[in-house]
Amino acid sequence: MPDSNNNAKASIDKWVTAEVRAMKAYRVPSSTGLIKLDAMENPYTLPATLKQEWLSVLGGVSVNRYPDPDSTELKALIRSCFSIPDECGLMLGNGSDELIQIIAMLVGGVGRTFLAPVPTFSMYQQISVATATQFAGIPLTADFSIKAENLFEAMEEFSPACIFFAYPNNPIGNCFDPTTIKQVINSAPGLVVVDEAYFAFCQKSFINEIAAHPNLIVLRTMSKSGLAGLRLGLMLGNPEWIEQMEKLRLPYNNNILSQASAQFYLQHHDILQQQAGQIRKDRSWVFQEMSKISGIEVFPSEANFLLFRVERSADEVFNGLREKGVLIRNLHNPSSPLENCLRVTIGLEQENRVFIAALSSLLFL
Ligand code: PMP
Repeated sequence: MPDSNNNAKASIDKWVTAEVRAMKAYRVPSSTGLIKLDAMENPYTLPATLKQEWLSVLGGVSVNRYPDPDSTELKALIRSCFSIPDECGLMLGNGSDELIQIIAMLVGGVGRTFLAPVPTFSMYQQISVATATQFAGIPLTADFSIKAENLFEAMEEFSPACIFFAYPNNPIGNCFDPTTIKQVINSAPGLVVVDEAYFAFCQKSFINEIAAHPNLIVLRTMSKSGLAGLRLGLMLGNPEWIEQMEKLRLPYNNNILSQASAQFYLQHHDILQQQAGQIRKDRSWVFQEMSKISGIEVFPSEANFLLFRVERSADEVFNGLREKGVLIRNLHNPSSPLENCLRVTIGLEQENRVFIAALSSLLFL
């Protein structure tokens, strides 16, 4: 076995690029037995009666058949639920991660550069590296906003094939200045992606800009508003661009159970919207409670999570919370803008209370 491992390593060194060898796979820590506030999921499920109805819908699905490769019915429902203008092209992905990958396959590659303000969602960089695209991160200011001149300088320097804005930005939760984003869209040499993964919690969108800006792509996902397990992402843009993207999409990327489930859930879209409304209210409560705890700085957020910085070691706070049964996300990276920062997802009311109590007891020690 060791010999064959050595052989494998030698051929990996030969065939896998140094950049990919240096990458780390995206790992998700175990949450067994813990209150799970680490992944921006919606903590609510369907009311029991609707759950039964959903299960009977799934019982009628023919899993021996391939799914509809174009998700025709689902797309029609999505268009009406999210008021998508007719002139926008729409493509569905296996999560919006897959859509970011398709964008990178289409316009990235050797000799191309992607830009994004950093810190931001790690997949922009991860997928850039995986597609041999150079990634240039433009540092945000100390309060995590964009310094427009830095962005424009980088656009001059790199002539980027694509610029990514998470709007609101993950892991901070703030929305960048929309005027700056519009200026970027107007002067970018390539695509501009506005990733509205957290739209359900902020209600601000660039969708209405698509008709006037053929280089603008808007991404959405159903993951944060209740359907993370289905893996359903939306790409909206100029129909000509969407047609090019479609060539790189695998034919059956949205499986038959996901299509049927998403259709069922979207027929009850009002429930998902109510849940998002509750999460927004609870976000204000958690923010207020956190603001009362000394030794932490909590950042305003328009998403379903809150970023905070602790005066003590973030590792200690993270481990202390885990010992008290609460899993959040530790973003600490020494000497980086996220030094001693952690991120908590808004959960059920009772889960939020447990989190606040655990955090207070740790910081009052
Ligand atoms: N964009 C942003 C900004 C995100 O934070 C995330 C999830 N963390 C995604 C996209 C990916 O979402 P999905 O589950 O649809 O792949």
